Amino acid sequence: MKLIAAFCAAVIALGGTAILSAPEAMPKTENYILIIEQPQSAPQDAEEMIRVKTDSAVLEMPEEEYLTCVVLSECLPSFAIETMKAQAVAARTFSAKTAQSGKHEDADVCADFACCQAYRSKAELSERFGSDFEAYWEKALSAVRATKGEKLYYNGALIDAVYYSCSGGRSEAAVAVWGSDVPYLQSVESPGEEDCSKFESVISMPIAAFREKLSQSGKTVKFSLFPQDWIGNTVRSEGGGIQTITLAGAEFTGTEVRKLFALPSTNARISVQGGEIVFDTLGYGHRVGMSQYGAEAMANAGSNYREILQHYYSGVEIR
Ligand SMILES: [Zn+2]
Repeated sequence: MKLIAAFCAAVIALGGTAILSAPEAMPKTENYILIIEQPQSAPQDAEEMIRVKTDSAVLEMPEEEYLTCVVLSECLPSFAIETMKAQAVAARTFSAKTAQSGKHEDADVCADFACCQAYRSKAELSERFGSDFEAYWEKALSAVRATKGEKLYYNGALIDAVYYSCSGGRSEAAVAVWGSDVPYLQSVESPGEEDCSKFESVISMPIAAFREKLSQSGKTVKFSLFPQDWIGNTVRSEGGGIQTITLAGAEFTGTEVRKLFALPSTNARISVQGGEIVFDTLGYGHRVGMSQYGAEAMANAGSNYREILQHYYSGVEIR
């Protein structure tokens, strides 16, 4: 074994590829078997590649570069390193699961945040961050490298590592938003997200526009004389979002309301104020899984990325 180890060390020093062009240098057949395996664990061959579909092409790049781009596209560069590590693991898990699902026929993942996860190329990020780019890149890359290969599993299978900007104080269970119960996507507390610019939003629209939207919703709606009577009973989910709400006599789910009125989240309160309908909302995104601002609050309070991931994804394994 000593001989083999020494030979392998020499192979690494030589840079892997040299071995194949010099088979006569191999001392024994048993070593030959090892040599074939050796390049796979040599640093320069260990690089995982990923195919990313952008608007113009399918780009093949090292996974490490892709994940670094995602971290800098999804996180603020000022975010704590532990937040970036949590984001890197979630993004790695998300892209592996997406690739496995065959969502995109010709690529593992796409660059559209609404479909997969946000990806800006290295060139775009460089333009965006200017003279700070190198420092930001190194920071995000170190988060990707520190968590190399780590993904999230539940019962031995890759999880749907969904995430969003901020929850408004509490995340939603998957069942409340998408209708199917997922054991690791439950509603959890998410304090300290107030730095998110969309933590609280107020959106208003004229009553006539609100009425028109409801009329176009495809539901059977009836408008009584006073607009305040259009807003009926609301049932809330554990995460504070609208589970169902009666509007103009028809029942809507929170997700339907969010889509219909382009709200930042389903955690909305609807009222009539003067001649307007006002939506007071908390949080931004679907609010299922990891909150990026909640992760940042945990990191700033001393939690590491594993604690952050295990808080937002209940009962998962990181490996
Ligand atoms: Zn996609």
